[in-house]
Amino acid sequence: MLNEQKNLITYATNNEAFDMNEKLKLILFALAVKPVTYVVLKVFPKKPQEAVRFEKMLNNAGIIFKKSRPKTFEEITGIKKNEIRWRIKGVWIGYDLFHTRTQKKEFEKYVRLAGKGRHTQADKIAGKLYDYPSCCVKDFIKMHNKPSLIVKKYSYHDYYKLMHTFDKKFPFIQHVPKSLNCKKTIVLNKEYKRALEKNAQKFLRMFSKKRSFKTDVLVDVSNDIVSEELLTTEGLSIWPVKDGHDYIFITKKPIDKKYWLISGLQKNYIERGAIFEAKIMMQYDYAEINLRKFKKQVGDLYHERKLPAQRK
Ligand SMILES: [Zn+2]
Repeated sequence: MLNEQKNLITYATNNEAFDMNEKLKLILFALAVKPVTYVVLKVFPKKPQEAVRFEKMLNNAGIIFKKSRPKTFEEITGIKKNEIRWRIKGVWIGYDLFHTRTQKKEFEKYVRLAGKGRHTQADKIAGKLYDYPSCCVKDFIKMHNKPSLIVKKYSYHDYYKLMHTFDKKFPFIQHVPKSLNCKKTIVLNKEYKRALEKNAQKFLRMFSKKRSFKTDVLVDVSNDIVSEELLTTEGLSIWPVKDGHDYIFITKKPIDKKYWLISGLQKNYIERGAIFEAKIMMQYDYAEINLRKFKKQVGDLYHERKLPAQRK
């Protein structure tokens, strides 16, 4: 391994400017097992020079990059009854990273095509650039173009159950696999793990450490897939009937200095604002939540934010 690679891996591992999954992508890219990647760097007021430092490291390692404009981000800083308080914590910058000029050119082609609404062609190029298995990309494009296929194949509960299982079974990959048996996905997941075992042991230890917590959680809204072309009775959800609810749960107290938003699939309907005693298991970039006892209802939740809600 080159010195520049080693430096970048150490930098990613120990730096709180990168969330866990960003560290993973950056390290796999630095090891050149991933051809192209996208990482988000968070700049906090106490370390205003972080972006400059990161870019210097990229330049030293001969890595080509394209960066986004800085955008402010918020985090939850407190919860009082039904009020979730968000405060601005810093700015984030997105970096597209390339090993070669050809990759950058291909990437620009992908962005151009996507901008023109030519998603199928764009997704095919992106799939190659990010090294996603072609079978999974094909399936993704098919479902993307026709959400009714998702409804045909999966009930709401089956779909979210599968998504959670993917996260658990394939923690090292970034794409949505075609199925749990996709051979290429299984191989890729193993390959990535092996590369980390060889070259980034400290990160792998952090990433794969299993931790459990007992804590109270608040029930927020549920996840869904919406589609303009599939107007159903339940708002814009693609499922006319739901056999489950993938809720977002918010920890009532900080864990490791952070309030966590965790998705958890439930069979039964729960009213927003309910508080439950829960057990949370965290490993990789994944958290599993088990509800224990219902405690009380605080009423409809209110997010007090400075910025409009953002989705990455
Ligand atoms: Zn596949």
